[in-house]
Amino acid sequence: MKKSILITGGAGFIGSHVVRLFVNQYPDYRIVNLDCLTYAGNLENLSDIEGKANYVFSKVDINDSNQLEQVFNDFQITDVIHLAAESHVDRSITDPLSFVKTNVVGTVNLLNAAKNYWKDLSEHLFYHVSTDEVYGSLDNGGYFTESTPYDPQSPYSASKAASDHFVRAYANTYGMQTVLSNCSNNYGPNQFPEKLIPLCIHNIKEGKPLPVYGKGENVRDWLYVEDHARAIDLLFHKGEKGNTYNIGGFNEWKNIDIVRLICERMDQKLGRTPGESAKLITFVKDRAGHDLRYAIDATKINEELGWKPLQTFETGIEKTVSWYLENEDWLQGVTSGDYLKYYQDHYG
Ligand code: NAD
Repeated sequence: MKKSILITGGAGFIGSHVVRLFVNQYPDYRIVNLDCLTYAGNLENLSDIEGKANYVFSKVDINDSNQLEQVFNDFQITDVIHLAAESHVDRSITDPLSFVKTNVVGTVNLLNAAKNYWKDLSEHLFYHVSTDEVYGSLDNGGYFTESTPYDPQSPYSASKAASDHFVRAYANTYGMQTVLSNCSNNYGPNQFPEKLIPLCIHNIKEGKPLPVYGKGENVRDWLYVEDHARAIDLLFHKGEKGNTYNIGGFNEWKNIDIVRLICERMDQKLGRTPGESAKLITFVKDRAGHDLRYAIDATKINEELGWKPLQTFETGIEKTVSWYLENEDWLQGVTSGDYLKYYQDHYG
C-alpha cells in the first residue's frame, strides 16, 4: 500500500463522494472510512464499493480517543482527510453543544491521535475540510478570499471556525503538515433531505409545503458535490502544505430562485402542469441570525492548480433531480430510518 488514508465522515454526503473517488482512482491506497453513523451517515451511499480490496469501514466516534488510537495502529494510517462533522445550521441553533463536541473537541482528538501516531510529522498530511460560512456574511458585496477574516455567525460556523483554528495551531505549534479548504454550499446525490435542494425535491414529490426562510432572498454559492470531491483530491496531492484554499463555482443563487428552478424541473419530470409545484412554496419565519450572502473567490485554486468545476448549475441540477427521482428507495430509507437497519444487517 502506497498510502493508508483515514477519511472521516465518509458515510455522509460529501464524504461518500470523496471515499468513492479515492477508492476507484487509487487502487494502491488503502481507504479507511471512519464514521460513527449519526442520522446523516448512511453506508448505502457506498454500497457500490463495498467489498473492494482497498476499502475498509470502521464505525468509530471521533470523540473516542482510545478507538481512534486503535484505528491509527490497526491500519497504519499515513494521512487524514477530515470531513466528519455535525453539518446542519438549524440543528446547531437548537443544540450548539453537540456541534462543539464533534466539530471542535472531535477535531482536536483526531489531531492528537495523528500527532501521537506519526513519528515524523513532515511525512504525513492532515487535510481539513471546512466551509465558507466561517467568513460570516457578505452584506455589502465582494467575495470571500483566503485572507478574509473569520467572522462566524451561527453555532455551526463558530464550531467549524474553531476547528480550523486548531488545525492551523497544530501546524504552527507542532509542525503538522496541513491543508485546509473552505467550500461553498454543495448539492448532488446522497444529501440528507433536511438541506434545501433534496428537501424541495422530496416535498414536491410528496405534495408537501416547500418551506422558504424569510422572503428567500439569502444568496448562496452552489457547487456540485463531485466537483468538490475532485478539488479535495487535487489539494490532497498538490496543495501547498500549510495553505488554505477556497473552493466554489462562482455560482450565486437566491434561495427562492433555486426553489423555483427545482419546481420547474419537477413539473417537467413528473409531467405536471407548469406552475403546479410552485404552489407548494410556503414562506416561513426566517432562521435566527440568517446570513444574507456567501460568495467564494476561487481564483487561487483555479489559477494555481487549474481546478474548475466540470458541472454547470444546469447540468448539476439535472443530474441531482434525476438521481433523487431514480433513487426513491434511498430517499424513503433515510426519511424512515431504515438505513440504521441496513447498517445492522450488514455490519452487526
Ligand atoms: P453530513 O452531515 O452529510 O455528513 C457528516 C458525516 O460525519 C456523517 O456521515 C456522520 O455520521 C459523520 N459524523 C458526525 N459526527 C461524527 C463523529 N462524532 N464521529 C464520527 N463521524 C461523525 O455532512 P456533509 O454535508 O457531507 O459535510 C461534510 C464536511 O464538509 C463537514 O465538515 C462540513 O462542515 C463540510 N462542508 C459541507 C458543505 C455542504 O454544503 N454540505 C460545504 C462546505 C463544507
